[in-house]
Amino acid sequence: MPHLEVVKGLHKVWEARKDFPILERQVNRKPLVYLDSAASAQKPQVVIDTINQYYSNEHSNVHRGVHYLSQEATTSYEVVREKVQRFINARNNYEVIFTKGTTDSINLVANSFGKANLQAGDEVIISAMEHHSNIVPWQMICEEKGATLKVIPMNEAGELDVVAYADLLSDKTKIVAVVHISNSLGTVNPVKEIIRRAHQKNIPVLLDGAQAIHHTKVDVQDLDVDFYVFSGHKMYGPTGIGVLYGKEEYLNAMPPYQGGGDMIKSVTFEKTVYNDLPHKFEAGTPNIAGVIGLGAAVDYIEDLTVEAMASWEEELVNYAIEKLSVLEDIKFIGQAKNRASVVSFLVNGLHPYDIGVILDKLGIAVRTGHHCTEPIMDKFGIPGTVRASFAFYNTKDDIDKLIEGVNRAIDMLK
Ligand code: PLP
Repeated sequence: MPHLEVVKGLHKVWEARKDFPILERQVNRKPLVYLDSAASAQKPQVVIDTINQYYSNEHSNVHRGVHYLSQEATTSYEVVREKVQRFINARNNYEVIFTKGTTDSINLVANSFGKANLQAGDEVIISAMEHHSNIVPWQMICEEKGATLKVIPMNEAGELDVVAYADLLSDKTKIVAVVHISNSLGTVNPVKEIIRRAHQKNIPVLLDGAQAIHHTKVDVQDLDVDFYVFSGHKMYGPTGIGVLYGKEEYLNAMPPYQGGGDMIKSVTFEKTVYNDLPHKFEAGTPNIAGVIGLGAAVDYIEDLTVEAMASWEEELVNYAIEKLSVLEDIKFIGQAKNRASVVSFLVNGLHPYDIGVILDKLGIAVRTGHHCTEPIMDKFGIPGTVRASFAFYNTKDDIDKLIEGVNRAIDMLK
């Protein structure tokens, strides 16, 4: 029997489905079954209302005006920085930098940290299960600097080889950048161990938390991670907003990524004096509405609790695996012992795209393809997978409909 608090939390989570107006709509004249939250999660009414309220009543530019509205907008914007600080347990609010999203945050670190620290002959370590966003920016800076990208291998289950990783770490390694939870395989990586081993050699670690921030409790001080990045839109907030957490000592030592307004203290034609953290990395008018909407999403998650959400999502993943397993010719891609929120599969003989199209006709939204992780598909020698990804607002009924849909696809296509 689960603990009473867990049961109470779960009831609240089940009731919260009604907070998402889009889940009431029909697609192709069928009730929507949304199983694509790993690509982007849906938004609760409170996030939509908060953005609406900001534009209706409070909009002005931040950090610039003496007038009332500007000061009000600045306060609302900076309050969210403190909210995010608490949410991830950062030591200081100025270690939270607002960006456009995970991709933007990684590009910031690759460019700025890379510019200051990488030289010809150096190495950057990533893993075999990275999203393109955590491959390409590192490839670009390595190419520019004459550095080499090293890749931690993974096994057939989709688990990283930590022993091989330890062997890759050397005096040449300048940074390790690894995904916390894989968007294609659902693998939850042993990130504490990855960080511990890198720190033994004084190497900083960046974690791509795009799929983790809303599925597991993230405490950046407990992880002792040096950079942690995530996107608002995956955690029930708006698109176009994200976070780079960085330890003060690293962020202070890094040059600005972009130049412009807000990131300066003073400008003459001869010299610019850069602003302090966090503004040094927030050039130009920021996504104020996005930040304020992100704050509403953080409040929303904290109210339901990540723990209760994750416990229901785990139940959904296990239920989906159990139900899919009995289908003939099913093949799972990614069977890590420690996994979360996504199930990737193939039906032998069928192209994932064709299954996706039939599911769509039934109102079921799944993702098909390489999920921006082409090297994973290459490793398994497949063109892509069908990926069902779950959020706490999904139900077992959604999964039953998925199974019916896959069965229908098999009947039609085989
Ligand atoms: N990293 C992972 C693991 C992801 O799942 C995604 C998005 O799917 C990204 C990075 C990129 O996120 P964004 O497109 O929000 O920048």
